[in-house]
Amino acid sequence: MSVNKQFILASRPQGMPTAENFTLIETAMPKPAAGQALVRTVYLSVDPYMRGRMNEGKSYVPPYQVGQVITGGTVGVIVESQIVGLQEGDFIAGQWGWQTHALVTAGQARKLDPNQAPISTALGVLGMTGLTAYLGLLDIGQPKEGETVVVSGAAGAVGMIAGQIAKIKGARTVGIAGSDEKAKYLMDELGFDAVINYKKSSDIQAELTEACPAGVDVYFDNVGGVISDSVLKLLNKGARIPVCGQISLYNLEQPDVGPRIQSQLLISSALMKGFIVGDYAPRFPEGLAALAQWLRENKIKYAEHVIEGFENTPKAFLALFSGENLGKQLVKTADM
Ligand code: NAP
Repeated sequence: MSVNKQFILASRPQGMPTAENFTLIETAMPKPAAGQALVRTVYLSVDPYMRGRMNEGKSYVPPYQVGQVITGGTVGVIVESQIVGLQEGDFIAGQWGWQTHALVTAGQARKLDPNQAPISTALGVLGMTGLTAYLGLLDIGQPKEGETVVVSGAAGAVGMIAGQIAKIKGARTVGIAGSDEKAKYLMDELGFDAVINYKKSSDIQAELTEACPAGVDVYFDNVGGVISDSVLKLLNKGARIPVCGQISLYNLEQPDVGPRIQSQLLISSALMKGFIVGDYAPRFPEGLAALAQWLRENKIKYAEHVIEGFENTPKAFLALFSGENLGKQLVKTADM
């Protein structure tokens, strides 16, 4: 193939993104210079945090620029290498994002062993989302035997791993997710103790109260909004709340006004703490080793929702906001 296909940000979304916010372009296939390698994308990751980067303004990472390629987690195979120690056919993970090919330097490539785990897992359970679950839950949530842990966004990439780690730690685990199929998977396959389908619930507060008869000790918050308002009413003394994501708010055009929660935190002596997985970079090796070990021991399972075809990348990204994915949302762009 002589061209590189890339998705660039065509315009900044207002509210819910649409396909028109992205343009597929073709550029000349790049040629690696000394110290570079050409990689062909096999899987690329679409992630909720990318929505925030499509806005202008300050955040924990710089915004995407209009006209530039959307960067993000990617795995691929080396096509041509001018890097010592990296050769044609090697698999790597990096951040080159929504393009079929890219040039990488040695520091931008993490070599993968396809015999140890499928390479796609480097974007999920053995990558950013698995680490987010592990570090956010264990560092801030600190679930203990017999406690109740509630996870929102429970059937997503982060949520399903957080819930299973809570089970490993001996907690009663209650998930909140957006379909009966997801609820069934979490309970039958992953061992969640109860799951609430918030899209079907007429009274989420009542259902949560029933699912958490002993109150809530840890709330792993992936979604924010009214779901979180309901969970926060059930906090036990000394509860911990890792604030991982707020996906229900990402596409709002006006700021959301919710209840003032300081009194609830005060009377329950609760700790609510936001975190960004990158803050924990020194602990990534520990997290990856623990996740790999639990996978080997069959103590955690993972799901991937793979959409075929590079041209479907924007569609795969938009599907995150309608909840089409069970587990890690990925785009498969080429065969290995
Ligand atoms: P994901 O959960 O695999 O996919 C997003 C899911 O969010 C959808 O499947 C959908 O499931 C749910 N959702 C979408 N709109 C919603 C709404 N309005 N209300 C409630 N749920 C909604 O994505 P992920 O990668 O695992 O990320 C989960 C959360 O963690 C996101 O908020 C993300 O920004 C955050 N995150 C944070 C960090 C960090 O470093 N702090 C790192 C990674 C991810 P349903 O069918 O259940 O609605």
